[in-house]
Amino acid sequence: MKNIAVVGAGYVGLVTGACFADLGNQVSVLDINEERIANLNQGVMPIYEPGLEEMVRRNHSAGRLSFTADYREALQGAEFAFIAVGTPEGVDGEADLQYVSAAAKSIARAMTAPLIVVNKSTVPVGTGDWVADIIRASQPDPIPFSVVSCPEFLREGSAVTDFMNPHRTVLGSLDREASEKVARLHLPLRAPIVITDLRTAEMIKYASNAFLATRISFMNEIASICEAVGADVKEVAAGMGYDTRIGRQFLEAGLGYGGSCFPKDVKALAHMAEEMGRRPRLLQSVMDINVEARHRLVAKVRDLLGTLDGATVGLLGLAFKENTDDMREAPSVEVAGYLQAEGARVKGYDPVAMIGAGRLMPDVQLAEDPYELAEGCDALVVCTPWNEFKQLDLLRLKGAMKQPVIVDGRNIYDAAALRQLGFKYLGVGRGYNHT
Ligand code: NAD
Repeated sequence: MKNIAVVGAGYVGLVTGACFADLGNQVSVLDINEERIANLNQGVMPIYEPGLEEMVRRNHSAGRLSFTADYREALQGAEFAFIAVGTPEGVDGEADLQYVSAAAKSIARAMTAPLIVVNKSTVPVGTGDWVADIIRASQPDPIPFSVVSCPEFLREGSAVTDFMNPHRTVLGSLDREASEKVARLHLPLRAPIVITDLRTAEMIKYASNAFLATRISFMNEIASICEAVGADVKEVAAGMGYDTRIGRQFLEAGLGYGGSCFPKDVKALAHMAEEMGRRPRLLQSVMDINVEARHRLVAKVRDLLGTLDGATVGLLGLAFKENTDDMREAPSVEVAGYLQAEGARVKGYDPVAMIGAGRLMPDVQLAEDPYELAEGCDALVVCTPWNEFKQLDLLRLKGAMKQPVIVDGRNIYDAAALRQLGFKYLGVGRGYNHT
């Protein structure tokens, strides 16, 4: 059993805290958002993540997991302080490190005993050294500490499972002994542990996310070519994925990557490269293709309807991906904006992201369920591949619509089956010019 503080009670921090507590450690999760902490103390979850609520409740009741807004209380007796605060996109695409800097200062002022500060936030290479400088400069009296980079690779929507079953744990520090102590915390997860230097660990995170984003943009480029030549990208991906050098994951063509990580991380890596005088041409293409994916989808709706002006379009799914309520950088927001710019009225439905969607898209009329969404629509656009959309009563949907048009931004439907039911249907990369 170790005593751990986690700074930041968001997707990464709350999952990290709950999972470490579940492994038998004593964990205090801290957030500057006092309302979030008060809610957590009353069992009200700030985010939706499968399995998290039950795990939080169980460990909270067992006394292994506590929540506080007070740094001194969180760090009392702690041997490790994990930083898991946001690193959003700054004005020029760089990572905005204001929250990391504030967390480092607060830790420095509140610590009363030697501490290993473990950074889980995704940060530009060199940030670990910078955090060490901030802590040193902000400590009222010098107390020994080490900084370890431990980038997080969990995915929203399966965060608890991912945390408990990582593909690897990456650790980097100038202090090998500190890395080994953090490694021991992760031993119960039984995953390979890569111990390297601080900067390399930070780079592994950016390189991994940029590579995954590259796969998505690559498949969207292939999808565009498939449309021109009359091939089906879903089957192309399946055929490619059997090759173990390629693998089956991240081969889905569609609306492109979104969410709180890939867009900002690819931009931050490109920005970092440019700052150092490099030309990140591949990363630039990855970003351009991602922007295009949304425009291409809207063009399909326009093509099928003749015009978007005066049309009613329903967005099936609003969250950036399935099984999450996270609306950050959700493609649906951009798609809604482009449709509205051409005069369409936009409706939307999502199984769990309605509150966030309402805030981000005040001009989108939210429906209670997919059938209400379909009422009066000239077209439906699948923006999120929620399982519950895969088995809808399509004839009922068709009956509610003004025109039976579906543009499937996630390729969840069988094109032939939909056409047989009388829908005009277009997916992504599925023989567009040959329908
Ligand atoms: P989030 O926005 O969900 O949560 C961040 C939390 O930190 C918020 O609750 C905020 O109130 C709190 N916070 C901000 N400043 C603070 C401070 N000074 N002291 C204490 N708390 C503070 O963010 P997230 O999605 O959990 O991401 C956190 C980091 O992890 C980011 O760097 C992100 O890139 C990285 N990451 C995220 C994911 C993901 O899927 N969300 C996956 C891997 C890595």
